Amino acid sequence: MRWLSHLYNRIRDAFMVHIKSKREIERLRESADLVGRTLAEVARHIDVGVTLEELDRVAEDHIRTHGAEPAFKGYQVGDNVFPNTLCTSVNDAVVHGIPDDYALQDGDLLSIDCGAMLNGYYGDWGFTFGVGAVSEEDAALCRATYQALLNGIDQARAGRQIGDISHAVQSHCETQGYGVVRELVGHGIGQGLHEDPQVPNFGEPGQGRRLKSGMTLCIEPMINRGGGEVTTDSDGWTVRATDGLPSAHYEHMIVVRDGQAEVLSDFGYIEDVVEPPYALDSVQETSTR
Ligand code: MG
Ligand code: MG
Repeated sequence: MRWLSHLYNRIRDAFMVHIKSKREIERLRESADLVGRTLAEVARHIDVGVTLEELDRVAEDHIRTHGAEPAFKGYQVGDNVFPNTLCTSVNDAVVHGIPDDYALQDGDLLSIDCGAMLNGYYGDWGFTFGVGAVSEEDAALCRATYQALLNGIDQARAGRQIGDISHAVQSHCETQGYGVVRELVGHGIGQGLHEDPQVPNFGEPGQGRRLKSGMTLCIEPMINRGGGEVTTDSDGWTVRATDGLPSAHYEHMIVVRDGQAEVLSDFGYIEDVVEPPYALDSVQETSTR
């Protein structure tokens, strides 16, 4: 039945191309930019003793005072409604952590995912911070996760396929012994927070949806120091590494182009405020192929 799925993919590609116009891409750039300025504001407040709820208030105020809406607050999956502006995931929490009264401790890894809707278009990207002094093992995890993201972006060129991105992320992390979380994936973005196509962090090169210039994607490796297995807390949201080891998550918003992808999200906003745990000079902007 391989020919049938091939035919289906061809028809789907022909009728469901999620190609954004220049105007739409400008809107997405503005939304990504607001998320960046919000994350920089949050970064200024990250410190030992600060609670996750405090950071969430900073983010919500910043988004609303700039004429936008938090994208995650009120987001519904089944009967579960996400209650906050930020996802704050500490240490073994992978993603979707709910901000609470937990006070940050020296050495914590803090993954923050932020979404905003501005003028009808979504921004969604995230960053893993180190609180105080992080261990060398955790810094190495952040480095591998961020480099995997850059390697994935390097594959996001018109004519290549989703599997090329997925494989670049997976191979960079698994060859170093890290666990790739498979339950959650990257996605298209636009007037919807999660659009097609899905962008898994594992897969085979030369497989999956073909990339076209003007597709806008969120690429977001979720990588564990131990195994890739995860469980969901009783709060219905927090995804946690089953073995209790720390996890990292970096997310960029990109536009597929004929050559190198254009990155709409700018980590520079954050790197201007805090020292990133991955050590800036240790990552290579493009992989060597
Ligand atoms: Mg996302
Ligand atoms: Mg996100």
